Amino acid sequence: MDAAQQLAKVSESPRLDAEVLLASTLKRPRSYLHAWPERMLELQQAARFTAWLERCLAGEPVAYLLGCREFWSLELEVTPDTLIPRPETELLVELALERLPANDPVQIADLGVGSGAIALALARERPRARIVATDRSPAALAVARRNAQRLRIANIEFRQGDWCEALADDRFDLIAANPPYVAATDSCWREGALRFEPSAALVAGVDGLDALRVIIAQAPDCLKLGGWLVLEHGYDQGETTATLLREQGFVEISDHQDAAGFPRTVCGRWSG
Ligand code: GLN
Repeated sequence: MDAAQQLAKVSESPRLDAEVLLASTLKRPRSYLHAWPERMLELQQAARFTAWLERCLAGEPVAYLLGCREFWSLELEVTPDTLIPRPETELLVELALERLPANDPVQIADLGVGSGAIALALARERPRARIVATDRSPAALAVARRNAQRLRIANIEFRQGDWCEALADDRFDLIAANPPYVAATDSCWREGALRFEPSAALVAGVDGLDALRVIIAQAPDCLKLGGWLVLEHGYDQGETTATLLREQGFVEISDHQDAAGFPRTVCGRWSG
């Protein structure tokens, strides 16, 4: 059976995963596979490919095996200290960019930066912005810093700390976060590929809302008047997250669906 067929058992993108693994085995870009479809693997390469394939079939995410994942056309290093950036989080970047004037030196915060995906995408699109990226995990911050250095993105300041606490007295035009939002009672994070990811980046209390509640409560003290809070949430947390924002005094609240049609990202504006 070919690798893609086997990977279909564990992956939503088996063909792509098989190609990425094979291209990495050959240390060539994926396009090489299409240019030289009949090329045979050397013995050592075949052994490496088989070992990787077996780890994938046991559930280990391809991104951790290879140590990288693309997000917003940026090649990012990822390690088991960081969540693997998801395509649906690109929606958060789009919504944030719609709310950030293109040429102003705006102030942006990304809370729980992980591998740096959101902060780096915003920094690349808004080179005049000043971005503060925070994470509680020093190991995740180290990965994010390395990504910024490798991509030569210099307009991000990294700070260690919990949510808004690391923002000190600064005031921001926009605060973005993809916090943990899986419910502790939901067994999904102990299973499949999710079990390889840091639970601190996935799980947030019994109902999955602990981190969102803290961020929504803290954000008003760190936003400028008219500043935006943009938050990713679980597929069934849209209404609750919007209500939390409303109760806190946010206005212009909107919830947006990801490409799979799930409510995924909520925006609200701080009106004082
Ligand atoms: N979107 C992730 C998932 O698939 C969860 C990420 C998060 O908690 N921020 O479960």
